[in-house]
Amino acid sequence: MDNLIKIDKKTVLERFHPIDKYTHKGIQGHALIVGGSYGKIGAPLLSAKACLKSGAGLVTAYIPQCGYDILQTGIPEVMVETDDYPTHITAITTEANIRAVGLGIGMGQHQETQQAVFHFLKLNTLPLVLDADGINIMSENKEWLEFLPAQTIVTPHRKELERLIGLWDDEADKMKKVISFSETYDLVVVLKGAPTRIVYKNNVFENTTGNQSLATAGSGDVLTGIITGLLAQSYDPDAAAIVGVYIHGLTADLALPELGYHAFVASDIIANLGKAFS
Ligand code: AMP
Ligand code: MG
Repeated sequence: MDNLIKIDKKTVLERFHPIDKYTHKGIQGHALIVGGSYGKIGAPLLSAKACLKSGAGLVTAYIPQCGYDILQTGIPEVMVETDDYPTHITAITTEANIRAVGLGIGMGQHQETQQAVFHFLKLNTLPLVLDADGINIMSENKEWLEFLPAQTIVTPHRKELERLIGLWDDEADKMKKVISFSETYDLVVVLKGAPTRIVYKNNVFENTTGNQSLATAGSGDVLTGIITGLLAQSYDPDAAAIVGVYIHGLTADLALPELGYHAFVASDIIANLGKAFS
């Protein structure tokens, strides 16, 4: 592929925003993580924690009521807003000062949740990361794709991509379809896998960090949190995706001597964010 750019340390440093000595949490940005449903509250918990540990100044998690105690005790630094409904999200409210939103992790696809996403998209143009059931809901309602804010970052794994754009013949056909999809809706598409590729405006970036340790529950939820955290710090969406996937992969490479491939879990991505950012 002639338009393929490898994401290495140099690519990342060119886009990296160091944290200024005189910054404050308002400048670092307020992120909103929207997701979770009964039995899947771990997803927004991991995502919100990763978001904070990627430098966002403030993080609010919007979750169904059943997750309130779990979130508040699991991450004391995160603010929690709950839906009126116990088991799934039925409406999405945002505060005035939110700078970036990560939406979809562990959210389920209840009809009421789908409508909540639709109303949210009609009312908001905030920088957005759409993952997991957020993507699946778009696949169920393709006519809603046009309501996604410009340069929304979508982060499908293989199955989510298939639901979103349909089947492809081979790798070349897949990339052609993804490039066309990205251009049609002005999206930054993060094709998660080994390796992860990012497609934006006919450019294809390929990540060089990460390993099979990342094939573990919650890994993608953490990636959503990292990228949302970078968006909250005013990264351009393509830069947030590039830096985010590189750092996410780097945590797994750094943890390899200690944990090997077997014992690494999504919380270890979060635990190694400090080393990776340093
Ligand atoms: P999800 O399926 O949403 O939990 O996302 C999985 C995350 O782990 C993505 O960021 C993938 O790129 C990454 N991942 C999964 N399997 C591998 C693998 N074998 N090698 C490298 N990264 C992987
Ligand atoms: Mg996922």
